Amino acid sequence: MGRPSLSEFFQGLAARRRHEAFAGSLAGATPWVRTTERAAAERYEVQTSYVRFDQRFNMMRQGLWNPRWAHLPKMRAENQARLVRAGKQGYSQLDWAFYSAATAIGRVTGMDINVPNRGSNGWGSLGARPLEGAKRWSGDPAANARAIRQVARMFGAGDVGITLLDRRWVYSHWFDPETRQSYPIRFSDEPGYEGIAEPTQLEDRTQVIPASMKYAVVMILPMDRRGVGTAPTLTQQATTQVTYSAIDRLILSVAEFIRGLGYNAIPSANCTALNIPLAIDAGLGELGRNAKLIHPLWGPMCRICKVITDLPLTTDSPIETGATTFCETCGKCARACPSRAIPQGPRSHQPVGEFNSAGVKMWQVDHGACAEYWAKVGTNCGLCLVACPFNKSAHWSHAVAKFAIARMPAINPLMVSVDDLLGYGEPDPRGFWVLGNP
Ligand code: SF4
Ligand code: SF4
Repeated sequence: MGRPSLSEFFQGLAARRRHEAFAGSLAGATPWVRTTERAAAERYEVQTSYVRFDQRFNMMRQGLWNPRWAHLPKMRAENQARLVRAGKQGYSQLDWAFYSAATAIGRVTGMDINVPNRGSNGWGSLGARPLEGAKRWSGDPAANARAIRQVARMFGAGDVGITLLDRRWVYSHWFDPETRQSYPIRFSDEPGYEGIAEPTQLEDRTQVIPASMKYAVVMILPMDRRGVGTAPTLTQQATTQVTYSAIDRLILSVAEFIRGLGYNAIPSANCTALNIPLAIDAGLGELGRNAKLIHPLWGPMCRICKVITDLPLTTDSPIETGATTFCETCGKCARACPSRAIPQGPRSHQPVGEFNSAGVKMWQVDHGACAEYWAKVGTNCGLCLVACPFNKSAHWSHAVAKFAIARMPAINPLMVSVDDLLGYGEPDPRGFWVLGNP
């Protein structure tokens, strides 16, 4: 074979770059990002006293069992209805219809993002299995990882990272809204559960994850910036729900793909394990002051889901973007938070309530105060997403700013001032319906 011409050489280079951009993690394509060996537990100084979190203390579950918070779900629904009837900006008939549409898929699938082994979070195959008589799939870990990324993107993932499952991030117990109690989550290498080779829910509602399921495929869905930018309105909540509808399809489809190859898969939106540390371990961002993942491209304006599997996969390294360091100077989300739920001060290991994981050095957000504000405005607020300077378009100037933040933390105070001066971080409740999408 002769040497390629110059034009063939550049065509080949372009094709390869396109392939890599699609097959690899988006974060890997962001020039300001550096990889690190320091996973979430090390970076956020998890203490030896740390114990796995019981899902019933998650603030989204507390209203179902804790008398302290039991009034919140009803109050939230009543205030939402009152504001829609009054036609308040961001709670118009358009917003109501938008929200109804955004929740429709979940009503069909029976999905509740917080309930494991139900709806699209289901642990059993919906029909996918290897074809009888066909040769068993034998991809190597790197080929499997490429295929998973490809399939995840086909079903709507904006970014994909793969990590070994750190069991510290798996809930100690899952919360069942039917019985309003929580039940243990165990692994098959624990005494009494040996020999369980498939994800299983026992008669006593204990859930067992096979020890072989040691990988987590973590996926990111960016949210619509203009929709979230209307916070704290029903438009914002509907925009959040659009992303959850996409997660519904995404996790179900990726899990079925894995089962079709003959492996186990546990699809999971917000249940079974904590999303943020898994996403950090999978190289998808850092932890912010607002207790959200700060993704290199979309900041906290994104949602996370995952599929736990035993399909052998190569894993990604965690990344450093400078976000957590930037948060130490910034504090815009704390200033914007109407309930003062986000602390202004430094990170701490000390929880402010039972809704925090104890023993992790982070900004301890008062999720109780946050939930009370949600009930007041009848939506899931989102002002701390809007305030964040990491929420910017993909314009080159923002990439330059992120590059500078990652490399020169000394300029962080200046960057915060410039962000304020340019008027970023302010919600615009008119924006979504009047201006359309950027
Ligand atoms: S969602 Fe709203 S109330 Fe809750 S922490 Fe964010 S800004 Fe504060
Ligand atoms: S607003 Fe500032 S402090 Fe809050 S998460 Fe974003 S960068 Fe961090």
